[in-house]
Amino acid sequence: MLESAISQGLRATGRRMTRTRKAVLALLERTHQPLSATDIYSQLQEEHIAIDLVTVYRTVNVLKELGLVAQLDLHHEGQSRYELKEGRTHHHHIRCQICGKIVDLLLCPLKKLTKLIEERTKFVVDDHTLEFSGFCPKCQ
Ligand SMILES: [Zn+2]
Ligand SMILES: [Zn+2]
Ligand SMILES: [Zn+2]
Repeated sequence: MLESAISQGLRATGRRMTRTRKAVLALLERTHQPLSATDIYSQLQEEHIAIDLVTVYRTVNVLKELGLVAQLDLHHEGQSRYELKEGRTHHHHIRCQICGKIVDLLLCPLKKLTKLIEERTKFVVDDHTLEFSGFCPKCQ
């Protein structure tokens, strides 16, 4: 139901929506950094792509619904970030406290702990969050 609503919505808005979608996806692919909506907005402005902030928010939400983009809500950050989901499995992040640089940690060390938690609590663990912060090589 939801999926057909989205594809209908995409079709209804036509080419313009598709171009915007493509521009946002291409940007996320290039930057290798999870970007906030305002980051996306200002970078596309620099590339002279006509887009407003409301459209950026709408676009990232559509891309999220389509399963192409993951939303990232880091601690101590007022706004969500978005990154490409494609080719990346479940992973964690480390963020520099000075410059805000974010690096993907392409591993998850919590498998054993998850098993232990399930045994102890009889819960089925569905998700977890884990993030690191510190000082990147440039800011040390
Ligand atoms: Zn830094
Ligand atoms: Zn990531
Ligand atoms: Zn994990």
